[in-house]
Amino acid sequence: MKLDPQQQAVLLELANTERSMDVVGDGAFVTREQKEYERLVQEQQRMLNASAAAQMAVDDMEAEILRIQEDERKLRKRERDDKAQLAAETDPERRRELEHDRYSAKSRIADLMSELAECHNQVHALRNNREVHGAQSDELTRQVEAAKRSADSANEAAAAIKDPQTHIEELRAQLPQDALAEYDAQKNDSDVGAADFNGRTCGGCYIVLSGMDQQRVNRAPADELPHCPECGTYLIRKQD
Ligand SMILES: [Zn+2]
Repeated sequence: MKLDPQQQAVLLELANTERSMDVVGDGAFVTREQKEYERLVQEQQRMLNASAAAQMAVDDMEAEILRIQEDERKLRKRERDDKAQLAAETDPERRRELEHDRYSAKSRIADLMSELAECHNQVHALRNNREVHGAQSDELTRQVEAAKRSADSANEAAAAIKDPQTHIEELRAQLPQDALAEYDAQKNDSDVGAADFNGRTCGGCYIVLSGMDQQRVNRAPADELPHCPECGTYLIRKQD
């Protein structure tokens, strides 16, 4: 794209202004930082719900383990009682009953032991899952705090522009139609359209260009806006 160097500054301001704000339903503007903050808050809420569910699963499994251990205690007592009674019992019918009861108590204990082992495996996995959710929640909390600070300062900067739509229209009015059309087409394509170039890095995709590409951009005629080879964005160099 060819553009007078003085108009390049106008295009850069237009691109930065349009980029800093997204239109919401009623034509009002919201900063991207605010949108990102709101997205993170929602993600944090989902994570809190998932963490609560993970905690509940651990609680349920721990309660199940306690129930099994309580059953085991009762069965072991029954088995001991049967054994004690057998030592003194002489009636064959009664002995058969006691032996049968003792046998079924023992076999029920064996079942409970394998249930218990399975529960211990599961509770271990569930506790790990709870730790992972906890760590992710902590990380999200940090991200939300950082996003809140960015949103606050972006919102403050946006509030300083009295009417972003008017400001954008004023900037557009200063630019030639063909340049605007090329910028808009590129913006449709790469979301940014035009960005500053600091001699090394594309201000659109933040990729550091290769040495050859840096030279190509830096040596282009002053009224020429080269494309970023990575994202296609028009690169606007600092005016001397
Ligand atoms: Zn780029």
